Parts: sequence; structure tokens; C-alpha cells
Amino acid sequence: MVTSRYFSGSPNKQATTVDDVASSLAKASTPASTVASKVSSTDSTAYLKSMKFSEVFSYFVMGLCTLNKPILNLCIKLFPYTPMPLIRAVVYKIYCGGETIDEVKKTGDRLVSRGINNMMISLTIEACNGNDNIDPEYIVNETVKSVSDILVPHTVKVIEESGKEINAISPGYVALKPTGFSKNSAIVLKHFNEPQYAAEFEELVERAAKVCQTVYDANINLAKQFPSRSTPFVVAVVDAEKHELQEGVYELQRRLYAKFNKPNMPVSIVGTLQMYLSQSADLLALEEKLAMENNYRLGLKLVRGAYIHTEAERKSIIHSTKEDTDKNYNQGISYCIESILERRGNESTIGHLVVASHNADSLKLATTKVFNETAGANNNQHNVVLGQLLGMADAITYDLIKTYKIDNVIKYVPWGPPLETKEYLLRRLEENGDAVKNDNGFPLVKAAVGEMFKRVFRLA
Ligand SMILES: Cc1cc2nc3c(=O)[nH]c(=O)nc-3n(C[C@H](O)[C@H](O)[C@H](O)COP(=O)(O)OP(=O)(O)OC[C@H]3O[C@@H](n4cnc5c(N)ncnc54)[C@H](O)[C@@H]3O)c2cc1C
Repeated sequence: MVTSRYFSGSPNKQATTVDDVASSLAKASTPASTVASKVSSTDSTAYLKSMKFSEVFSYFVMGLCTLNKPILNLCIKLFPYTPMPLIRAVVYKIYCGGETIDEVKKTGDRLVSRGINNMMISLTIEACNGNDNIDPEYIVNETVKSVSDILVPHTVKVIEESGKEINAISPGYVALKPTGFSKNSAIVLKHFNEPQYAAEFEELVERAAKVCQTVYDANINLAKQFPSRSTPFVVAVVDAEKHELQEGVYELQRRLYAKFNKPNMPVSIVGTLQMYLSQSADLLALEEKLAMENNYRLGLKLVRGAYIHTEAERKSIIHSTKEDTDKNYNQGISYCIESILERRGNESTIGHLVVASHNADSLKLATTKVFNETAGANNNQHNVVLGQLLGMADAITYDLIKTYKIDNVIKYVPWGPPLETKEYLLRRLEENGDAVKNDNGFPLVKAAVGEMFKRVFRLA
């Protein structure tokens, strides 16, 4: 394993910035650079053509909700009081993969027909306040089942039927919400290192490990069936939660890395770092140091962070400006990509990266670094995967896959009972709010109306 480098301990200190990339893009002449420089969320509406009529209608409604900031704020306020059947009929289906395993399988097939080879599935039972009436055993059993019944057959089918190079098919991911693994999760994660909660924390780790063992075993078995694949087939991803729970979540991630991410093997576990946290650069350096010292590999999903609207201590824990978060995020993904591509095979300490973002600059940066002629000669290229949430940034996802032929793209697919996914849907509305400045929804309304009109009158 590489033993010489760590991520810079200080935020925003590394050399690579979006400006550097923009200027290198201007100078570059490789087709991949051309690809990357054009990835943009601006005017493409072609993706609507690949959607079902009901989905296009849902986009029309979302366009109306995001026409401008005051309308969106009103929708966010009204959302908790909106009747479930209405949510289910209109928004649930563009943001969620279904209520049952069979429905999620069909969503996977639909994604493949849109060129999206794999997905990150997440049984979404929100329990982040720790007082919810959840059943951790049920969550573990359903999640294990979702790996065996959805991800494994889906990944095998796509490998066998796509006709693509075997490593070019992204792994299937199962997202694990740490708060789902204990009835008392908020307290247990917050106080994990106090003797009083030690036993409950161990139980939480064991439950998560049960899912991870299924993932690890599937990788071992599938490697026998497809020996030429050097990237993982399936991966368990530990999601990041609100900040006060994160110390416990980091400890959980480390335990799982140490148990399942063995040296010189594809990683089975990916942990999450929220790069809007001002401590996140130091944390990335620490995770890499711990991995080297303890002889395991790191898998990372880098996100900006979804809890900015609800963090009570926002000023002291989150970067003070969006620009600082952006710089920190871009430096983080640059560092991880360079580490992954520096080696071939499964030697690097950082073994797998999910660039989980809808931001065009970040995706541009990642694609420039990963999809160029030099990197293309290295199979580790396929250990960098770009992920967007189902129903978010679909124009960008479409562009990456259809226009620029990038295979390493997946969608995060939450699934489960609609009532349970209400909190998740609310966060998506709030997140849309971050992007809405003025008249944002109008182009979407116009495009959706145009697409529906064409279909009704069979013009296309
Ligand atoms: C596959 C996938 C998995 C995910 N898993 C997780 C997870 O486990 N945990 C989690 O928390 N989130 C998760 N997310 C959600 C993710 O955090 C948000 O989608 C993301 O923050 C939106 O940012 P963006 O990268 O798309 O870029 P943009 O839309 O450009 O950035 C918006 C983000 O920037 C940050 N920001 C906005 N304003 C400011 C400000 N004034 N100061 C500082 N920062 C600011 C916030 O994080 C905000 O969400 C996941 C997303 C994806 C695609």
C-alpha cells in the first residue's frame, strides 16, 4: 500500500481548484477534456424524453414548486401537511424507487434503459431524532435481503448483458443509515465511548456488520464467477447524519473498514465525509492515517452535506461560505482521485470514491481527472463513481451518460414506505431551495409541458 502521502490537514490548502481546472480545460485538447468542459446543468431537457409520462408530469409539478424562492418556501411550509396520497401520486415516484423489493428491481431496469447501469439503494426509514418507533432487526433483515435480491442479480445481469468491459459496470451500493441500527440510536451514537452505552454501541456495530458481511461474501463469490473484474461488485455505504451523531458514525465506519476492507482486495465498505464541515479536511487526513497504521483500505463517499438547514451549531461547524465548502469539496475529490489513480490494482490506501454531487463544477473536475487518456489506461479509473440522487440533476446524469459516454454514473434510490420517506423528501425540497435563485422552475415547466404536449398529440 502507498505509505507516503496524506491529505493536507488544513482546509483549502491544496493546489487544485476549479479555476486551475478551468484553465487546464482551456488548454487541453483530449476528447475527455472536451467532455468534461461541457458537463452542465443548464439547458438540456433531452432527458425528459427517456421518462414515463407520469414522471414528466411530476417534473412539471416540481417546476411549479420551484418557480421562485417565495413559492418554494411556501411549498416547504405546506409539505408536512400535504396528504400522503398526493405526495405519493406526484413527488414520491420521481425521488423514490418504490415501496417493495420488486418495485425497486423495476426501477433498476428503468434506470438501465436510461443508460444508468447501477444504483445506490437505501431503505429509508428516518430515525435521526432517535425517538422513532423503528425496528432495527427488521431494517437489518430487509437490507440484507435488498443486497441479495436486488443488487447482486441486478449487477450480474448488467455485467452479462451490457457487452461492456467488465470493470466499466459500476458496483451496486447499499446505503446504511446508522440511526437505523439501534432503537436508541441518537443517544448511543452521541455517547458511544461512555461505558454506559458501550454494549448498545457494540450491538449497533454488529447489526451494520451483518449487512456488510453479506456484501463482503457476495464480492468473494462473484469474484470466482467473474475473475477478470478488479473492482467491487457490491459495496455497503455508511451514510453521514447530523453532526452531533457523527463521532459515533466515524467509529462505526472505522470498525467496518478494519473488518472488511482488507489490503490488496477491492473495498466492500465506503464511509461518508461531509465536506461542508470545517473539520472535514483534517478528518480525511486522519482517516487515511488510521487506515495506513491499521492496514486496511478506505472507501469514501464525499458529499457536501444535507443538514445545513437543521444544524443548530451551523456557525461553528460548517464552512462560513458556500465558496469555502465548494473549494474544500473539490480539493477532497481531487486528492482521492489522484490517490486512487496513482496505483494500479488494489494497492492504494484510498480504494474507491463516490463523488456524490449534483454540482456541475465538481463533476467537471472529477470527469477531467478520471476520464482522460492517461487515466483510461488504468483500471482503477472504475473505482471512481459519480452519484446523483434519483430525481435530482437528471439533465447532468443524462449528459454524462448519453452525450459523453461515461459509464461510472449511478443514482441514489431511496425506497420504503412513503410515510417513512417524508423527511427525506422534505430535505430534497429544501435542497432544491439552495439551487433556486430566480425563475429557476420556469424552464422545467416549459420543457415538461412541451414534452407532454408532444406525447399527447404524438408529435415525437
Ligand atoms: C449519492 C448521494 C449520497 C448522499 N449521501 C449523503 C449522506 O450520507 N449524508 C449527507 O449529509 N448528505 C448526503 N447526500 C446529500 C448531499 O449532501 C447533497 O446532495 C449535497 O449537499 C448537495 O450539494 P451538491 O454537491 O449537489 O452541490 P451544490 O448544490 O452546489 O451545493 C449545495 C450544498 O452546499 C452547501 N452549502 C450551501 N450553502 C452553504 C453556505 N452558505 N455555507 C457553506 N456551505 C453551504 C450545503 O451542503 C448544500 O447542500 C448525498 C447525495 C448524493 C448524490
